[in-house]
Amino acid sequence: MIKAVTGTKDILPEEIPNWKFLEKVVTSVFDNYNYKEIRTPIFEETKLFARGIGESTDIVSKEMYTFTDRSNTSLTLKPEMTASVVRALIEHALYKKQSLNKFYYISPMFRQERPQAGRLRQFHQFGAEAIGSNNPLLDAEIIIVAYTILKKLGLKNLTVKINSLGLPESRENYKKLLREYLIKHFDKLSNESKKRFQTNILRIFDSKDEQDIMIMQNAPLLLEYLDNESLEHFEKVKKALVNAGIPFEIEPKLVRGLDYYTNTTFEIISSSVGAQNALCGGGRYNGLVKELEGPDIPGVGFAAGMERILLACENEKILSLEEDKFDLYILAIDKDFVDIVFDLAIKLRNFDLKVELDYFNRSLKAQLREANKLKAKFALFVGGDEFKNGFYLLKKMSDGTQFNIPISDWNKLVSIIKES
Ligand code: AMP
Repeated sequence: MIKAVTGTKDILPEEIPNWKFLEKVVTSVFDNYNYKEIRTPIFEETKLFARGIGESTDIVSKEMYTFTDRSNTSLTLKPEMTASVVRALIEHALYKKQSLNKFYYISPMFRQERPQAGRLRQFHQFGAEAIGSNNPLLDAEIIIVAYTILKKLGLKNLTVKINSLGLPESRENYKKLLREYLIKHFDKLSNESKKRFQTNILRIFDSKDEQDIMIMQNAPLLLEYLDNESLEHFEKVKKALVNAGIPFEIEPKLVRGLDYYTNTTFEIISSSVGAQNALCGGGRYNGLVKELEGPDIPGVGFAAGMERILLACENEKILSLEEDKFDLYILAIDKDFVDIVFDLAIKLRNFDLKVELDYFNRSLKAQLREANKLKAKFALFVGGDEFKNGFYLLKKMSDGTQFNIPISDWNKLVSIIKES
């Protein structure tokens, strides 16, 4: 049997209402904040991600789905959206049309990670990018939008963690201090951290190795070495969050994986899911647009994992969606009427009713069972003496009330169903 590829998942019809509900909340909040939707291709030239995410990141160094097409171009399935959004902004010169562009997206992403609960190889993210302004209020806005969406879904056990990585110059100075500290403990570091020491030293803070964690507990913290400009920026972000009533914690060890962050970084974690507890993360990336050969303009954004959010909703039992409402099941009293039933269903669906019928020439009893199974509000019986006399019999399933509807009186039929 051919199965879905490891780390990918079918989203079956029964799960779709949850996804649609999530998408509805996401779009409505983004709409309130005037973020505009953008859709970019599923694949891009590999060099976009190599440059836009950073060669030393886990994503680029070991997780991308990269392939060569028939014209020998190296392509990659998108592992995240920021680089694609920035590419589109530059390619269409959107920054010339307005000085601040606020985008949002909902899209599948692809990363060859080790699959586990809350971690897939094809997963879905929604997210936002606000590109064109360095105003700390926008850093706060991005965090507020993410938090608002999660709260609007009804999620409770959330923690917002924020940090500042400062400007690249102050970060470089700090990295020297960190190197000096770590060189003393180098032999005790895990192999992964030894590698990171060379490639992406800040990421050693993300290590799950116990020995590494112990060592990092006494490491100097970037937050303590921030330049004044970054400190001031961070203060303004915090003030805006306090004013908006968003609870947050400062997490000086929050470095996040991507190379291009400057100043603010943040994550929202949930205690309702397992080890993979980050529902979303993001931050400011002032160097990225220029890095991708655009103008030197700043940006800030976030991405949220939809599978993880739905898992948190499920665990907090907050997706008590309304039952799918079903208007009408049409029954053929005998086989002679199946074509009439089929035509009738098409006509009634054009009146914006949700209608189903039997496709197996089943007995009347079996058709009624099906109508009950679908929780149809009404059943319409076609055939028998009523039909001979020019009527359909309409039955309200909840209380058994019956209506004789003249065959040509569409208005009556539709209005009874719609008004109940
Ligand atoms: P990132 O783009 O790595 O900052 O991730 C942002 C969010 O996307 C995370 O907080 C997760 O909720 C989600 N996410 C990232 N990677 C995966 C994955 N492999 N499977 C499922 N969700 C993911």
